[in-house]
Amino acid sequence: CLAMFLMITSFIPTINHFNIVTTVALPDDDIFTLDIVSKIHTDHDSTAKASSDFGHIVEAIPNGVFHPTSPADIAALIRLSISQSKPFTVAPRGQGHSARGQTLASGGIVIDMRSMGRGDNVCRVNMSTDELWVDVGGEQLWIDILHATLKHGLAPRIWTDYLRITVGGTLSNGGIGGQAFRHGPQISNVHELDVVTGMGEMITCSPDKHSDLFFAALGGLGQFGVITRARIALEPASKRVLWVRIAYSDVESFTSDQELLISKRSSGSGFDYIEGQVQLNRTLTEGRRSSSFFSASELDRLAELALRTGSTAIYYIEGAMYYNDDTASSVNQRLERLLEELSFAPGFTFVRDVSYVEFLDRVGREEQKLRSAGVWDVPHPWLNLFVPRSRILDFDASVVKGILRDAKPVGLILMYPMNKDMWDDRMTAATPDDGEDDVFYAVGLLRSAVAAGELERLERENAAVLEFCDREGIGCKQYLPHHASPDGWRRHFGEKWSRVAALKRKYDPWAILSPGQGIFFPAG
Ligand code: FAD
Repeated sequence: CLAMFLMITSFIPTINHFNIVTTVALPDDDIFTLDIVSKIHTDHDSTAKASSDFGHIVEAIPNGVFHPTSPADIAALIRLSISQSKPFTVAPRGQGHSARGQTLASGGIVIDMRSMGRGDNVCRVNMSTDELWVDVGGEQLWIDILHATLKHGLAPRIWTDYLRITVGGTLSNGGIGGQAFRHGPQISNVHELDVVTGMGEMITCSPDKHSDLFFAALGGLGQFGVITRARIALEPASKRVLWVRIAYSDVESFTSDQELLISKRSSGSGFDYIEGQVQLNRTLTEGRRSSSFFSASELDRLAELALRTGSTAIYYIEGAMYYNDDTASSVNQRLERLLEELSFAPGFTFVRDVSYVEFLDRVGREEQKLRSAGVWDVPHPWLNLFVPRSRILDFDASVVKGILRDAKPVGLILMYPMNKDMWDDRMTAATPDDGEDDVFYAVGLLRSAVAAGELERLERENAAVLEFCDREGIGCKQYLPHHASPDGWRRHFGEKWSRVAALKRKYDPWAILSPGQGIFFPAG
């Protein structure tokens, strides 16, 4: 079986030219006992599916796609790789929802993490209702965790906007969303991990046990090991949500209200979720005539507000107030009291009363709409930045009202603040260095290229945004980062770089893991 695999792979054209046939110093009997070779699919269909990602910008063909059924399978694959004179690269792939080829492995092996949750493994979600945590496989989708934990009236505290992505994928980046101002990103809400390192060791780690690996893997861009289990903090789940949007025609009121709202993180008097969006004028006049939140007539009102105030863009804060049966009678008053403290455009409050699941899965509904319109599987040159609070108005003036001013309306611009002290600096994830600022903004330019030539234009605009940030010393960090040069990565990690490089030498010395990130390169 192994021989057959080796024969097959030797005929597959590769970009990296690794040649697994030359040396077959078998690491252990486990390759045979676990039958890992038969779990590597080398057919065209399998490799083609693993050659691209949600971004549809970068392509790279792997030699095979591995379908593990246990963490031991993953460890055996990695040990097979490093037993070669020229180890092959290995990229865990969650849903492949990265935008810049981060899950690709040119000429290597892609691990289809989702196969860990199929068949007998489907229940890789176990919880402690007393201690308020849930153990989940790295391959699990957040939407499935939501449904599993809700059966016990519990739920994780922090959510990404979209839930059809995996635990391993978001924990390798950060996992940000509107609850992060209060609870930090998803990586700040993990008690323990199981990780298979680039040496093929299976290690359980936590803040007290193998803590260097624990903090390396959180936000570690898949560089130090494959996350096969995470223990995630839970809280009692609410049943219902007041989902609110309030509109602004000026960025100063918008940002100062957002900052006021996130400062209420522990008082219990504010929102449970806070994000924000920017709608360029053109988006309002030429964009889709309704959204999953706004009706066509509400969009007309927003367009009229922009016209009346002469604003290039309309900003709105998106907030959510959770409630249950016992708090239902007071939630509206609580919202009214909160709104009285804010300076949005009078009359521009929009409130929906929805279930907790309906609120959390809102982007899932949007996905269905975009899929039916044929605009889901298109190039997504997304650019996500963390911008220090002290420079957000400069960023707005030069990017929103400058570079993007006449941009065509396809996609979304997010802008919302987070408290920096909710990010543990021991984690690999990079946040703005500026010591003065205790708040930074997540800004997402989440745009799609739906027509010919648009990808190039959007890429030019993204490059102009990055160039502006560099030139003006804005001090941005990319989130879901992509850097084309080693120097770019060094600057990205900043003071953490030497630690990141040392941890890489310790846990993945052959640099075989997640090569699509382009941070480290295998020797030879
Ligand atoms: P993949 O894209 O498959 O993998 C991402 C990286 O992690 C790769 O380098 C991969 O090799 C590595 N990796 C995957 N699994 C593991 C593992 N088990 N162990 C170690 N490394 C692993 N992000 C947010 O933070 N907040 C949001 O609100 C948000 N909204 C989104 C909305 C949409 C519509 C989309 C498409 C993405 C959104 N994201 C958001 C980005 C998302 O977090 C990333 O795409 C992330 O990579 C998760 O996707 P994935 O599970 O498909 O991981």
